[in-house]
Amino acid sequence: MRQNTLIIDIDRCIGCKACEVACKLENGVALGAFRNKVLTIGPNGKYPHVEMYFLPTMCQHCASPSCVRVCPTGASYKRSEDGAVQVDRDICIGCKSCMKACPYEARSVNRELRVADKCSLCAHLTGVGEKPLCVRICSGKSRIFGDVSDPESEVSVALKNAGDENVYSLPDSENRPSSRYILRKATWVG
Ligand code: SF4
Ligand code: SF4
Repeated sequence: MRQNTLIIDIDRCIGCKACEVACKLENGVALGAFRNKVLTIGPNGKYPHVEMYFLPTMCQHCASPSCVRVCPTGASYKRSEDGAVQVDRDICIGCKSCMKACPYEARSVNRELRVADKCSLCAHLTGVGEKPLCVRICSGKSRIFGDVSDPESEVSVALKNAGDENVYSLPDSENRPSSRYILRKATWVG
């Protein structure tokens, strides 16, 4: 099955947060809410052995999403054509069950519409053959979009080139997150 997702090359992220801003503008995300948030990790350690990096977080478009399992109306669903997890606003009742079920805090509430909100992988753009806006504007070329089930895709090639030892996912609590993070060991200060 096709599984579109985002791969983040952490070594290339400069923490500019342009992706955060672009996502909010493109998707009309309200003040105080985020679909995509860049966290600062660190600094950790003691000089001169100090490390710090930026960790973009967003919906992981899980293979077995708990948000979908708990949704009482079917508003949260996983699309068969591309594996993206979406919210049908027309039948979402704003009960927040999905928010509580998501282990990655990837969802918020659209207070105006009173429905769940999250990264859609810019479905309105990918549906017409374009990339999500966060990918297009990323100045560090840190964000890569594509189908991880296709070994020839840009995301699969990036993961292969990085090597298994440099590829991470968020902790799996039986959701099987599809996003991956590349962080090369050579960049770590020990
Ligand atoms: Fe990092 Fe790219 Fe987002 Fe800037 S736009 S914070 S470089 S992921
Ligand atoms: Fe659902 Fe959270 Fe997984 Fe996204 S990251 S598919 S909101 S469980």
